[in-house]
Amino acid sequence: MKKREKLALIRAHYPNAVTTIDTVNRLIDFVEERLDLEPSQIMLADSICSDDVNSIQYPVRASEFLGPFKMGGLDGFPFTGLTGMGAFASHVPDEGAVFVYYGPHIGISKEGTIGEIHRYGQHKNTGCCGAAKGALNKLINDAIVPGQLNDMDYQMNTIEQILLKEKNRILDATHPLKEATEVIYEAIDERINELVKQTKYACKYVILLGTIHINSDTDIGSFTSAKRFELIDLATNERQNLIQELLK
Ligand SMILES: [Zn+2]
Repeated sequence: MKKREKLALIRAHYPNAVTTIDTVNRLIDFVEERLDLEPSQIMLADSICSDDVNSIQYPVRASEFLGPFKMGGLDGFPFTGLTGMGAFASHVPDEGAVFVYYGPHIGISKEGTIGEIHRYGQHKNTGCCGAAKGALNKLINDAIVPGQLNDMDYQMNTIEQILLKEKNRILDATHPLKEATEVIYEAIDERINELVKQTKYACKYVILLGTIHINSDTDIGSFTSAKRFELIDLATNERQNLIQELLK
C-alpha cells in the first residue's frame, strides 16, 4: 500500500492525520530551525498506551532525542504522575527542552474498521485499544462501579472511571469507541497540563504534542492526529500555539 493510500484510509476518520514517522521528522526540523537546538538536547517523554504495538511501531528517528521516558500506562494515561514528570525534568540538558508526546490510541484496520488492527503472525484482528474497548463494554453493560479503583487492576479501573463520567456523551455517539477515545484524550490532556504546571524544569522549553495516536495493521504503521502543539518558553512562561506549523 502506498503512503497516500494509507493516509486516505486513516483520514476518513481523522482528517488531519499524518504518519508518526513524518511527525517525528517535522519535530526534528522544528527543534533545529525554530529553537536552534540539536535533537540530542531534547528529552522525549511519551504518554502513550503500553500496548506492544506502540513499541513495534515506534519511529526509528525518535532515537535522535534523549529518552524516551515512559509516562503512559493503559491507553496513554500518565500514570507515572508528578514523580515521573519531575524525574525527566531533572534529567534534561540545561540548554535543552522537554518534549512530551501524549494521547490515547485507537486502531483502524486495513478494512477501515475502527477499534481493531491486524497484528503480526495472527489470523484474526484484535482490539486496539483493548483497554478502552473493555472499559466501553463495561460502560454499555452498566458494570462500572462508581469510585472503584482496585489495586489488582488500578490502571483499567481509572480508564473506566474516566468513561463513566461521560457515559451519555459516549453512548449517544455515532462511534462510541471513537467518542470514548476523545474523552480519554481530554482527561490525559488535562492531567498533562496539570503535571506541567506543578513541575520545575531546568531547561529552556517544554514542547507539548497532544494527539489521538492511531495504529493500523503491521504493514501500514501508525499515525498522529494532533490536537495540541504548544511551545512553553520557561524563561517567560509564554505559551505559543503552533499547531498550524506542525500540520502544514
Ligand atoms: Zn491500548
